[in-house]
Amino acid sequence: MNSPKPPFPASLNSLDDLIAAGLAPADQAQDLAQVAERFRIRITSEMAGVASAAVAAQFLPDAQELNIRPEEMADPIGDTAHSPTYGLTHRYPDRVILAATHACEVYCRFCFRREVVGANAALPADDMSAALDYIAATPAIWEVILTGGDPMSLSPRRIESIMARLSDIPHVQIVRLHTRVPVVAPQRIDAAMIAALRARPTVYVGVHTNHADELTPAARAALRRIADAGIPMVSQTVLLRGVNDNAATLETLFRALLTLRVQPYYLHHCDLAQGTSHFRTTIAAGQAIMAQLRGRMSGMGVPTYVLDIPGGFGKVPIGPDYLQQGAAGYVVTDWQGNQHIYRDPE
Ligand SMILES: *Cc1c(COP(=O)(O)O)cnc(C)c1O
Ligand code: SF4
Repeated sequence: MNSPKPPFPASLNSLDDLIAAGLAPADQAQDLAQVAERFRIRITSEMAGVASAAVAAQFLPDAQELNIRPEEMADPIGDTAHSPTYGLTHRYPDRVILAATHACEVYCRFCFRREVVGANAALPADDMSAALDYIAATPAIWEVILTGGDPMSLSPRRIESIMARLSDIPHVQIVRLHTRVPVVAPQRIDAAMIAALRARPTVYVGVHTNHADELTPAARAALRRIADAGIPMVSQTVLLRGVNDNAATLETLFRALLTLRVQPYYLHHCDLAQGTSHFRTTIAAGQAIMAQLRGRMSGMGVPTYVLDIPGGFGKVPIGPDYLQQGAAGYVVTDWQGNQHIYRDPE
């Protein structure tokens, strides 16, 4: 699938750039201009260079994005419902997410934060200070998750300064960075970036990737550099109709991630962001895929299928049910679909 295409500029940042590169059909320019007005466009040369429909569908604008359904929301996971300071979301007692920047290296067409990404980029210094002060003053916060936007679109120097402030807060034991950069802009994972990640406290990288076709040789090399630096990685994948909504495609991705020392962590049900209904599967379809994966691959490679409950109530596992309460005890379903009785001791 990954046949080489002509070299593109480092990133394509507008509809005009895409049309000039032959990546958007000129005869749909009018509809696509309406999409572009609403939702930012950006794709890196690394991803533009992958000849794969599954990759293109994630980054290239589509007229279907103009179809906004009544159930879709501007803030589908309720980030602003639990925000003590601008840029910070404190939903669970022991961890916060800190939107260090609103910029990304790519703008994914299904993004759950599509209404806020691409806006005024880095979190202003005052807001960053207020967020860090809140974290320092809240001993229950054990983990800080840097998100955005994409925190790795910041310079290594900026990341290092955030890490330095966090490492001065004794109750913060883990810093997690959720990012698409190692995959979509692998050249950013250079020695300076690795050095910035090697800070106290313990750093984890959460890699967002949805299809094995995204894992170009350069992306794989970037993931190896992170793993070689001793930084543990987990992955997050969004279940996307027409992109990865079958067990074989996800199995290929999760096996590749395991070999790259990335532990599959979450498979997200596609959030109710505006203009994304063409990407959304049903939960039943997602559960059927999860049940197939459980039977066909190493348990290490099977992530938890989660729904971020609309309104800001948090993430919950929504995988298939293997256990049901029956009259004679539990009814347990095995990986082949056969049922068995299990009873707790009296
Ligand atoms: C997703 C999320 C987290 C992290 O959740 P985990 O289940 O620990 O990965 C933390 N805070 C908020 C607000 C989130 O949306
Ligand atoms: S990289 Fe993440 S935050 Fe940025 S557009 Fe894609 S999904 Fe959204």
